[in-house]
Amino acid sequence: MIEQGEQPQISTDNVVTGELMKPWQLPWQRMPWQLLCRSFKQQNLAHAFVVEGGEGHATTDFVTVFTQLLHCQQLTSESEYPHSQQPCQRCHCCRQIAGSVYPDFKIVELLEGKKQISVDQVRELTNFFQQSAHGQGFRVLLIKDAELMTHAAMNAILKTLEEPGNNSLLFLQTNHPLSLTATIRSRCLKLSFIQVNDDEVISWLNSFNDNHLATDQLRQLLLMSDNHPIKALSLLQTNALETRSEIIDKFYACLSSECTIDQFLSTSKEADINQLWAWIGQEIMNKGNTAIRNSNFRISLSTLYFSLQKQLFASNHVDKWTLLREFLIKSIANSAILSHS
Ligand SMILES: [Zn+2]
Repeated sequence: MIEQGEQPQISTDNVVTGELMKPWQLPWQRMPWQLLCRSFKQQNLAHAFVVEGGEGHATTDFVTVFTQLLHCQQLTSESEYPHSQQPCQRCHCCRQIAGSVYPDFKIVELLEGKKQISVDQVRELTNFFQQSAHGQGFRVLLIKDAELMTHAAMNAILKTLEEPGNNSLLFLQTNHPLSLTATIRSRCLKLSFIQVNDDEVISWLNSFNDNHLATDQLRQLLLMSDNHPIKALSLLQTNALETRSEIIDKFYACLSSECTIDQFLSTSKEADINQLWAWIGQEIMNKGNTAIRNSNFRISLSTLYFSLQKQLFASNHVDKWTLLREFLIKSIANSAILSHS
């Protein structure tokens, strides 16, 4: 049972300066943080974890700050929670870990242009696991998007899990834990970051709410970000609700030929293409949306959207703006056909 206490005061400094997010300030990280702190204090840390969540949950920061805790030279106690401690984030070790240059902390991630994490990448790190730690304490390895490991890479990891070195900690971060083999999962303790209490996250978001958005609007941001709090924060800070509303108005104007495709694309060119693509998808899927009244047209839009989405997933080389243009051309053509049928 994790002890509940008064909520610590939330600082907005780390977001403004781009520093590491602090797990004890994030509602969705507080329980896993306390669990790890307590196990560390009681010297019964598991040696492998599946971290369920992604960058939208600040999972890399979580593992980095925990590594700081393991190596910090000036630990402080947090009075709100009996088992929770904090790294100073200023000492030599803390700074090296934050800068990813600490010899006992390694991160493995997908290499640019690759679709999978290879067995060679994983083998390099199993060697790291067999060496002794440079400092006193733990060697920590984080594999990001662990579901992207090849079958051979997963087997190599499994071998490491079967013969863990002393004081080695492995974190497998993934949004899709079921994509890891059952044997790997059975040897890891799961830390879930997706069990988010909406009200707590809304209250956290509200501490950054300089534009005084209403609670419902904050909730909409969380929904738009698929319940990824850090993404919701980024949407809040970029005034995304207003941008979204302008872009979606223009999208409908484009579908009904009130503006040209070029005009729509020029309105949207400042937006992130992935975000834009997601917004259009949400708009089409929303059955309560009265802007698309003709159900046949909605079905044709969804079918087209998903077929293009498949192309996006299948290749890293598809230009997303070209695909969006194709989507609009075909949608407008369908719209004309359906309105005459
Ligand atoms: Zn420190």
